[in-house]
Amino acid sequence: MKIHEYQAKQLFDKFGIPTTSGSVALTPEEAVCMAQAMGLPVVLKAQVLTGGRGKAGGVRIARSLDEVREFAGAILALTIKDFAVRKLLITPAINICSESYLGLLIDRGVSKITFIGCAEGGVEIEETAKTSPEKILRLELTVKQASHLTEKDCLPFALKLLPKKSQANDAAKIMVLMAKMFLDQDCSLIEINPLVVDDAGKVLALDAKVLFDDNAQFRHPEHASMLDLDSEDADEISARVIHLTFVRLDGNVGCMVNGAGLAMATMDTIKYFNGSPANFLDAGGSSDPAKAAAGLKLILSDDRVKAIFINIFGGITRCDDIAKGILAARELFEVTVPVVIRLEGTNEKEGQALIAGSGMIVAESMEQGAQKAVEMGQRA
Ligand code: GDP
Ligand code: MN
Repeated sequence: MKIHEYQAKQLFDKFGIPTTSGSVALTPEEAVCMAQAMGLPVVLKAQVLTGGRGKAGGVRIARSLDEVREFAGAILALTIKDFAVRKLLITPAINICSESYLGLLIDRGVSKITFIGCAEGGVEIEETAKTSPEKILRLELTVKQASHLTEKDCLPFALKLLPKKSQANDAAKIMVLMAKMFLDQDCSLIEINPLVVDDAGKVLALDAKVLFDDNAQFRHPEHASMLDLDSEDADEISARVIHLTFVRLDGNVGCMVNGAGLAMATMDTIKYFNGSPANFLDAGGSSDPAKAAAGLKLILSDDRVKAIFINIFGGITRCDDIAKGILAARELFEVTVPVVIRLEGTNEKEGQALIAGSGMIVAESMEQGAQKAVEMGQRA
C-alpha cells in the first residue's frame, strides 16, 4: 500500500524523524491562506502516488502570495504519470546546503532489511546505481539487528553519507528512528530523497516515500484511513477488499483465472496469439458466486474490454463448483461482451455440462480459449 508524502511526513513526526510537515490544500485560495500563516517562501508539492514530481513541474517554490496562487493553480491542473493532482502539500521552503539519499527496504536478494545510501541525493538513485554503482552505500540487517539498532551501529554508514561528525550523528539518529518505524508500521520501504542539510546545519527529510507491506495490513486497521480511494489503483484496492488479486492493464481481453501462475500463463498465451490482456486477475480457488460476480464486474467496468476469457484449471477446486459460481454471478447482472470459457481438470465433464446452453463459448484447451477470445476481441 502506498501513501502520500504528507501522510508519510505525519508518520515521521510521530516517530521523531525531523522533516518539513506542512498543510494540505485543495484549492489555490486555501494554499494562499496557509502560506500566509506559515510565512514565505513556501514550497508547493503535488500529492500524487508516483515519483518524479519535481521534473513534471509538481514541486515549486513560491516567494510571494501571488506566486502561491499562480503555482497552486498550475500544479492542481497537472496530471503526473496518469495521476490527476487533487491535493497540494504546502511547506516552509528550506535553504538547502546538501542533498543526499537515504532509504530502508527489504532486499529479497539477501533476505535482509537494508539501508541504501548515496551522498549525491535529490536525483534518481536508479540512475546513479547504474552509472556509478560504487557510490551506493549498503547496510544489511537481520530483523533482530534492526530491532536492536543503535546510533553507534549506524555511524560508519552515516559518516560516508555526511562526513561532518555532527551531521553524521544526526543522520545516525534518523536511521535508528527509521528502523523503529519500519518494524513498528510493517513497512516495505521508507525512502528519503533528498535528506538535506539546511543553512543552519540541521539534517532533515525533505521528501518522504513510505510503502506498507500488504501482507501485514491485518495488523494495522489504522492504516485503512490513509488509503486514497481517488487514486488510480481504486480497482486494485476494491479487489483487495474482496480478496481478489487484480491489476488493470491496457488490452481488450478481460481475464478471469484461478491461480496466479495460470493467470500469468494466460496473459502470455493471449499475447502469443497477438492479443492483449486487459487485466491480471487471480480469482483464487473459490467457487463463491459473490467473488465470481465481483471479478466479472471489475473486468467489465473497463469499457476497453471486448471479450472475456475465463480460464479454469480444476485441481482441489472442482470445475462444477466454479461453473455454478460463474452461472450464479451472471444472474446478478448482465454480461455484455462475449465470454470464452475453458474448464479442465477435476469434474470437468460436470462443469462443462452446466455451462452448455449458457451462451458462453466453450474452449477445449487454454490455447484454443485464448485464440478465440483474441478473435472475439478483434471482431468487436
Ligand atoms: P520528487 O521530485 O517527487 O522526488 O519531489 P521532492 O520532494 O524530492 O522535490 C524535488 C526537488 O525539489 C528536491 O530535490 C529539491 O531540490 C527541491 N525542493 C523541494 N523542497 C525544497 C525546499 O524546501 N527548498 C529548496 N530550495 N528546494 C526544494
Ligand atoms: Mn524526492
